[in-house]
Amino acid sequence: MKRIALGTTGLHIHPLVYGTLPLGPLQAAVTPEEGGRLIRYALERGVNLLDTAELYQSYPHIRSALDGYRGEVVIATKTHANDAQTARAHVERALRELGRETLDIVHLHGARVADPFTERPEIIAELVKMKGEGKIRHVGLSSHYVCAIRKAAAFPEIEVIHPLINRTGMGIIDGTAFEMASAIAACAKAGKGVYTMKALAGGNLISTARDSLRFVLGLDGVHGVAVGMLSEGEIDGNIALFEQGVAEEGLWSKLEGRRRKLRIMEAFCKGCGFCVPACTNGALELVNGKAKVDEGECILCGYCGAACPEFMIRVV
Ligand code: SF4
Ligand code: SF4
Repeated sequence: MKRIALGTTGLHIHPLVYGTLPLGPLQAAVTPEEGGRLIRYALERGVNLLDTAELYQSYPHIRSALDGYRGEVVIATKTHANDAQTARAHVERALRELGRETLDIVHLHGARVADPFTERPEIIAELVKMKGEGKIRHVGLSSHYVCAIRKAAAFPEIEVIHPLINRTGMGIIDGTAFEMASAIAACAKAGKGVYTMKALAGGNLISTARDSLRFVLGLDGVHGVAVGMLSEGEIDGNIALFEQGVAEEGLWSKLEGRRRKLRIMEAFCKGCGFCVPACTNGALELVNGKAKVDEGECILCGYCGAACPEFMIRVV
């Protein structure tokens, strides 16, 4: 079973990390039972790091997957809180809903935070405090910013980073793929564990999925790559690719032929505009009182869906 040291955390992970965002209501909205079955399928084949977040609403899927499971599992979640009290509430909820006494990794969910060390110091301090209480094993940082990842290399409190990177750099807010790769390498050199997100830019690079995944897997300092998976075939294909570099043509041609998109249910959109600032990529605007997406800029992250009080946005 393939295992890679996640920096100096002492954790050892399979390089294929199960990204659970697509299972939840922001994207495919599969039932906890079906999502749990898929996660369990991956766990039984060697995957051992599950990536989730307060925002993803995928704790029930993970709980279902772990029911009666005796194998090893590492759970990473994230808090997007703006204050310490809310961060603590997010951690407590994750512990309760996942039925665990400790969370292996809790990230400051800093997608849109350019400098979490000055803009959210109280969140980092609270997570470190909860680590002291035994509720968290490792504190992490997830980010779409090169500057935040670069800065994390110098902060010992941050033990794991979860940066956005892909072949084209799509979704990186302040730089290129090359610049993010260099920040990642600096973090790995400083002993941080590194597992990345958006290797396929939320589906935009699906037609070149094999090359896009190999690109990220080959980067200096990358220990794991989170991939959202919605079928057994996808799990099998990724495990073979990640473990042996093998990509069966029939299966991957089918996977690379899929298309995903952001659906805004215009008829019911109230034009409140809450979704617009939630987008890190500036892909949304209000046109004639309705939200509109620029598909060329959208990385299908689903964060706008979480911001819509009417539940009118979904990645399909
Ligand atoms: S429009 Fe929505 S899904 Fe697309 S990048 Fe912006 S927040 Fe993400
Ligand atoms: S948040 Fe929802 S209801 Fe408001 S503008 Fe965006 S899509 Fe429309």
